Amino acid sequence: MPTYAEIIDRMIRAAAKVYDPREARTLALWAVEALTGADRMRLLVDPRAEIERVDMGEVERYERELSEARPIQYIIGMAEFCGLQFAVGEGVLVPRPETEELVRWVAEECPKAQRLLDIGTGSGAIAVSLAKLLPTTEVVAIDISEVALDYATRNAAANGVQVAVVKGDALGDWASEFEELDVVVSNPPYVPASDRATMHRNVRDYEPELALFVPDDDLLQFYRSIADGAARALRTGGALYFEIYEGAAEQMVKMLAERGWAEIELRRDFNDKNRMIRCRKR
Ligand code: SAM
Ligand code: GLN
Repeated sequence: MPTYAEIIDRMIRAAAKVYDPREARTLALWAVEALTGADRMRLLVDPRAEIERVDMGEVERYERELSEARPIQYIIGMAEFCGLQFAVGEGVLVPRPETEELVRWVAEECPKAQRLLDIGTGSGAIAVSLAKLLPTTEVVAIDISEVALDYATRNAAANGVQVAVVKGDALGDWASEFEELDVVVSNPPYVPASDRATMHRNVRDYEPELALFVPDDDLLQFYRSIADGAARALRTGGALYFEIYEGAAEQMVKMLAERGWAEIELRRDFNDKNRMIRCRKR
């Protein structure tokens, strides 16, 4: 059997073809953890140890896919989010760490919510994490993508929570199906289509366009439609939470204020970018 160091080196060389050296090393360690079941400590403390068991076919697959910029979470088939494991693959967005901060904000402010809706649920990251954090809340999740609906359903079951996962169109009349909600939360597509060219290959070539992009001349299309629906579907005093595009924070505040939403508050993420907004129905 090869040593950990040998496999780590192979992964670093593969990843370095498409990532900068620091990121290549991080991804390589992550890959070897998944391949061998050893934790990072083990890899760092005694890298010259022989690996007890590893599938060399899988080693080759990881090497090839890393060098092709396939996201590590797709290669492994899993992503961690809010301390939970989510199955992911082509057709569903890899949940991002920024979004964990949105989940924590909702959980902090809405411990007694009875009914919560997550719009554009993808892997189910937000809905499933909130169902876990708020065990007395009834959670519903909608998405327009069949692939996403499948993943979200599986991820709710695998994490042992009840989430009603249903098909719905955020740009359509989704609100007619709901009333007296306490919370609506959404991380909708918000990346301007023109940013596509400058995104890393691992996002651009692999993650679903449907989950990411909006037209440059209408960055708020999802937010307007969701806010207008939420104005009907929420109870008075109910809260609306969004993850937002950092460049659209001012436009968002203005749009929500014009529509009469109360208690509008922006928050920054760990990168110090305006990333979340909350408001309440009067
Ligand atoms: N909530 C997940 C998360 O935070 O990781 C996924 C967010 S992803 C940025 C946006 C999601 O919105 C995708 O799952 C996509 O399929 C979904 N979506 C795109 N257009 C939609 C529409 N018209 N109606 C409902 N969902 C839509
Ligand atoms: N933050 C994600 C990215 O930059 C996009 C998430 C979204 O569109 N809501 O890839």
